[in-house]
This record gives sequence, structure tokens and C-alpha cells, in this order.
Amino acid sequence: MSLEERPRPESVSGVSGTAHAASENQKKMLEGYRRSFTFGSIDAHKEGSRFWIKDKGPIVESYIGFIESYRDPFGSRGEFEGFVAVVNKAMSERFAELVSAAEVLLPELPWPRDFEKDTFLKPDFTSLDVLTFAGSGVPAGINIPNYDDIRQSEGFKNVSLGNVLAVAYATQKEKLTFLEEDDKDAYIKWMGPSFEMQVGLHELLGHGSGKLLVQDDQGQFNFDQNTLINPVTGEKVTSWYRGNETWDSRFSTIASSYEECRAECVGLYLCLNKLALSIFGHEGQDAEDVVYINWLSMVRAGLLGLEFYTSESSSWRQAHMQASFVILRVLLEAGEGLVRLEEVAGADGRPDARVTLDRTKIRTVGKSAIQRFLCKLQVLKATADVAGGRALYDGYSAVTDSGPHNFLRLRDTVLLRKEDRKMLVQANTRLQGEAVELVEYEGSAAGLIHSFTERFQEDAEQLEADLLELSKRDSPCWCH
Ligand SMILES: [Zn+2]
Repeated sequence: MSLEERPRPESVSGVSGTAHAASENQKKMLEGYRRSFTFGSIDAHKEGSRFWIKDKGPIVESYIGFIESYRDPFGSRGEFEGFVAVVNKAMSERFAELVSAAEVLLPELPWPRDFEKDTFLKPDFTSLDVLTFAGSGVPAGINIPNYDDIRQSEGFKNVSLGNVLAVAYATQKEKLTFLEEDDKDAYIKWMGPSFEMQVGLHELLGHGSGKLLVQDDQGQFNFDQNTLINPVTGEKVTSWYRGNETWDSRFSTIASSYEECRAECVGLYLCLNKLALSIFGHEGQDAEDVVYINWLSMVRAGLLGLEFYTSESSSWRQAHMQASFVILRVLLEAGEGLVRLEEVAGADGRPDARVTLDRTKIRTVGKSAIQRFLCKLQVLKATADVAGGRALYDGYSAVTDSGPHNFLRLRDTVLLRKEDRKMLVQANTRLQGEAVELVEYEGSAAGLIHSFTERFQEDAEQLEADLLELSKRDSPCWCH
């Protein structure tokens, strides 16, 4: 729906909806937005958002309005954004297969049956490719609407923007910092397939797995409190969630990174599984290469993650990056030459680092380290053991200059070798008769400017001048 030809309210009721909607529900959704933009009504936008939630799994997904408040210093006023995305059908098919294999794959996870849900609840997850995302930044995933009353009672959608994530990882050889030359070639070849598999396992069997032990308000347990043994301590379970307690309410500040770490570990662990590999179409040597690159990229991500650690306040600013760093620490601790992390002098004479992984030890040393760690993560989570969980997670998250690796100095090296921010060049569409044509541009400053001037043709000259000026400075942020 174009907002430029802002319609006069009395002349257009429902027109926009009828022309562009795929269903009755979508018509009502668009009508809500139309009323909101015409009259400035937030209630109308909420009404449209209610229909949007009910519009489950559309092939073309869109949302528009004043949505995210990150850029408001007060944290309340929403910034205008709008996007159109399409379902990635191939990826969705493999994800569906993975869900149907859940009952075979979940028992492979390293915790006893009693610590797994009675029935697998498929997390709400759709992978979309963005056609256009208009706003000050393009997120890699979204969880909306932001209206809390609607989220609580009517729900929300959780969507991964696959091509945005893929861009974040796609890279040229010379930008692959901290890897050996041979690894760089393998990385470029297998990053896509291994990343796709890791995302699927992470989202569906990672976040979707594991039970919380609960005693409800009536005193009923969802486990046998008299006999259940904690597999880590070997003793009877002594803690659990009561009444309205939740994972987030108990683990508060570490909850989100801890859970990301658990999901990432599930990905690393299950990507070794033959059935999981075959669902994603990998067999023989190819499968081993996918596994190797998945693990290698995780340890490299752990090192790169140091960029998101603030030494002044000893705190992490990004849940996933902290999670990767924790996994790097766990795999370094496993020893036996599985992971090597060295500070070296770069070709330019400045500090550099090298991270390597011994591929022959993944299925032995690596697997058993992740197995033990993942079991601990799940059991501490399931038993609401906040003190134990914090001690474990904060311990591995600590960035210090003591011990075999000087992570504070490595952090400086990571900052020194940091890549320029990526530019996200977006495509346009144009009509050729009845057919829609996709217009793409080269991934460069020129491509970006071209994309903008073709989209906003009336303002092309001014836009080009502004963007040329901007391109001399730091390029815009692409991720949230
Ligand atoms: Zn996650």
C-alpha cells in the first residue's frame, strides 16, 4: 500500500484492502492500517495487528507502522517502518522434515527422558526472505507486534529473516579474519549449508527442547519429586519452578544469553547426527565438511564476539555473541588440541590472532565436551537452579587477562581487525505489464545509491548527493 497518495477518508473505504489482499483476514488487516494512517489512530493499528497475527503462514508477509522504539531515548515512541518478505520454501520444507523427525532426534540429546517435554511443542518459527525492509536498520529477526496487551492474550509472530542473516555471514576471503588459508576456502564453500542447518537445529530442536520442572499453584508436580535424580549431581532433585515462576523471571539478566547458548549447543551436538545431516541433504565427505565448518564458525564467532564485550563495565551487550564466547571457552577447556587460539603478528606487523580446530577430534573430544556442558545447561534450567546456573554461565562468560589466554588483549585485536560495517543493498520491483520483475543491484556503495534513486525517482538527485556524502562516513548499521 502506497502512503504517498494519502486518500481522503470518505472516498476509499476498503479499496486498498480489496485490491491487494490474499484473504478476507488480510483485507481487515489492511483496513485497520488504512484507518490508522488516515486518522492517526493507534487503536486502529492495534486492530490491524490483531488480524495480522491471525494471518498465519502467508506466502507474502508484511507489516507497517510505527513499530520499534530503540531509537527513541525515552524508549517509547515508535519509528516508522514497513517491510515485505516472502517465505523461503526450500528452507521451510527442510525445517518441516526436521520437526517430523523430532521424536527420533530429541532422545539423542544428552539429558534423561524426564528432563524432556512430554510432547514436543514446535516453536513458532518461519524463515522469510526480505524483499524490502524500509527503516533505519534491517533486523535479522522480528518478534511482533509490540503491543504487550495483544502479545499476552492474542499472540505474536516470530520470524527469522533468512537472507539478512545470510548477508551477515557471507563474506570474501580477505575478510575472513583469524582463520588459516586452507580453512578460508572450506569456509566459503560450506558456510551457507552449515549455517542453514545450525539455524534449523537451533530454532526448532534447540529452543523447542527441554522441560521445566514445575509445581503448580494447586501443589501438583509435572514430575515425580520423590524419585527424580539430577543426572549432574547424582542426587535427588531439590529445586523447581513454583506457581507463576518462569524461566525469564528466575534467570532474569542471564536468561536470554543462556538460552541462546543452550540452543547453539543443541545445533552443534545434533549436526553430528546422521539423520539430521541427511534431512539437510548432506552425506559422506560433504557431511563431514558441513560439520567441520559449523564447529569452526562457532569458535571463530566466539572470538569475534569479544567485540560485543565492554571491558569498562565487564558486561556483554549481545546475547548470541556472549553465547558463542561461552562455547569457545568450553571447547578450549576440553583441551587435547581440539581448539587452538593463538596471538600472532599479522603481515602488517600489528597484532593478529589465529583460531584452528582439529577436525579429527570433533566427534570425540568436542562431542563429549558439548554433551557434558549441554546436559548441565538443561538440568540447571529445568530445576530452576539460579545460583548454579549463574555460577556456570558467568564463569564461562568472564573475559580476563589471566589463564592460558589473554582475552582482554584478544579483544583489542578483534577490535583492531574489525571489518567495516556491511552495507545492505535492497532490491526493487517493477511491473512489466502484469508481471512483477525483480531488480537487483551490485553490493557496493554505487549499488546502494542506485537502488535508492530508482526507488524514489522524484527525489533521485537530492538522494544521490546525500548518499554520496554519507558513504564517505561510516556506513549505516544493518543489525539490531
Ligand atoms: Zn535463538
